[in-house]
Amino acid sequence: MKITFFGTSAATPRKNRRNTSIFFEIGERKYIFDMGCNVIEDLSNRGIDCEEIDAVFISHMHGDHTGGLIPFLGNIDRPALFHIDPLICLPPPMEQTIDAYVAWRKCTSHREQRTFRFQEIEPGTFYDDGILKVTAYRTEHCWMSFAFLLEAEGKRVFFSGDFSREPEKEFPYEILEQPLDVAICELGHFPAEKYGIIFAEKKPKHLYIAHISSRFLKTIPPFAESADFPVTGAYDGLEFEV
Ligand SMILES: [Zn+2]
Ligand SMILES: [Zn+2]
Repeated sequence: MKITFFGTSAATPRKNRRNTSIFFEIGERKYIFDMGCNVIEDLSNRGIDCEEIDAVFISHMHGDHTGGLIPFLGNIDRPALFHIDPLICLPPPMEQTIDAYVAWRKCTSHREQRTFRFQEIEPGTFYDDGILKVTAYRTEHCWMSFAFLLEAEGKRVFFSGDFSREPEKEFPYEILEQPLDVAICELGHFPAEKYGIIFAEKKPKHLYIAHISSRFLKTIPPFAESADFPVTGAYDGLEFEV
């Protein structure tokens, strides 16, 4: 499994740090978790066609996780590209988001719109294509936000989406009952030391801190220095194998 950070910023994009999006390649399969930035550019720069994307997963609807979603859908909403048909997994109420897309699309063209394959995310295992299994956990960040556990090739990867300001109260500790290969966790709402509390007993093999607020960026180096497990501050373009 190869993981690439397309964007690693929380809220307002910063110099060389765009909003959150993470690209997963598992064998021939390709998946995108959150689309805070225009991922078409990232895919094009890597010689990857939108056609190759199997599924997209959105943790919640805030703009720093969805800013690239409408450009992505709009790009493949052309007759010549109707064959590109990734599954788009959205938090509930999914119909509200679909209506918003349809309304936006009508502003750009009156010709007939295509249909997409949408799936509403629900807590528990909601996606399993035989290669990747995704389990959703509700977080307290907003009224409908999720974290995800990804299981593929015998590896387990956690992606936090966004937490509230007290992540230690809502972290899905049950995922740590089995070895966790990678945790990709946000730093938009609290300092990095919070992960010292969360992972005090059971630790991931590697923690990547992403979705970084400029307010808390400086808390990563001292935490990484003191942690008794590997901690990396992610940046746009960082890629690694699991
Ligand atoms: Zn966010
Ligand atoms: Zn958010």
